[in-house]
Amino acid sequence: MRELIIDLDAIAKNLQTMRAKTNGALALAVVKADAYGHGMIPVAKKLEAAGADYLGVADVHEALQLREAGIDLPILAWLHSADENFNSAVDAGIELGLANVEQLNRVAKAAQHVGRVARVHLKVDTGLGRNGASVSEWPEVLKTAHGLVAEGFIQVVAIFSHLSCTSEADDLRQIERFESAFAEAKAAGVEFELRHLTASDGLLRYPQAHYEMVRIGIALYGLSPFVENTAADFGLIPAMTATAKITQTKRVAGGEGVSYGYLHRTAAESTLGLVPVGYAEGLPRNATGKATVSVNGKNYAINSRVAMDQFVIDFGDDEVEAGDAVTIFGDPAAGVPSADDLAAACDTINYEIVTRMGGRFKRTYLGEIA
Ligand SMILES: *Cc1c(COP(=O)(O)O)cnc(C)c1O
Repeated sequence: MRELIIDLDAIAKNLQTMRAKTNGALALAVVKADAYGHGMIPVAKKLEAAGADYLGVADVHEALQLREAGIDLPILAWLHSADENFNSAVDAGIELGLANVEQLNRVAKAAQHVGRVARVHLKVDTGLGRNGASVSEWPEVLKTAHGLVAEGFIQVVAIFSHLSCTSEADDLRQIERFESAFAEAKAAGVEFELRHLTASDGLLRYPQAHYEMVRIGIALYGLSPFVENTAADFGLIPAMTATAKITQTKRVAGGEGVSYGYLHRTAAESTLGLVPVGYAEGLPRNATGKATVSVNGKNYAINSRVAMDQFVIDFGDDEVEAGDAVTIFGDPAAGVPSADDLAAACDTINYEIVTRMGGRFKRTYLGEIA
């Protein structure tokens, strides 16, 4: 009745497309938040088969789920609670993005406890203002890391940071700070193999900042990280299509109110079609009056109130039947609205649209999983 069709081959192709834009940098594929709503395990398995070098998630919990699913790639997790117990992560060989002395000491304890050297990526905040050691904390982080390496508890795999993508000038300033941060690390005797800074946006904008690894998220799913560019501009193929089948149609008289609040009234006698997708599925309630969907090759406005479970389309005198497919968004190359269109209608970004799709949608996968 409600389906999210996920094209795994598109995801594999998008990985190659993005990788080809680097000069041989390692590719960390970001599969956090259920692979941006695409389903973390099937997507991760596909990416492993397609040659991703690393997987990236926010939480340790997500990383452990990947390991439990039998994924052997290096996995990096970078967002931890203040009282995180890192034992299972270190035991499962999860690499940890760490931002302060407290976390380093906790991870060292875990390493000692499980009898395994913890692989860590030190995160420096070069100007995003989220996690990462601030410039003033950085020397202390380096000193602690150096000591814990000497004691045999940790290995520093990488130094990393994340751009704010505010403006080119701001990003270039962050790149400069990043360069000083790893110069400081070297001076402090902290050895590391990798540097990584850019996500999809930075990968496309700053070839000088690819270093040894890039972290690719949104572009894998075939969406553009920029509002001013479409995915097609970069040769990316949208991987998610959100569809549903009309559950009921009926003829109503002119002037009838439709859905809560009567935001829409039929202009004349008309056919209404009921679509079983609501805000419980992640379709934003404020798509009401702004978004369009595609049915039988034609676009229709969602002009009555999106409810929890459903919305209604006014088809006028167009022919439509229960069981006809409604595409809420998909690949615009197929003539349907894109995730970008829905995002623009809802005053948000494509990232939020695909990530929030869930509820009672069932995911089906196109292409071999691995
Ligand atoms: C989410 C995330 C990414 C991926 O960003 P995209 O813009 O989706 O490519 C990369 N790095 C970090 C630290 C992230 O949190």
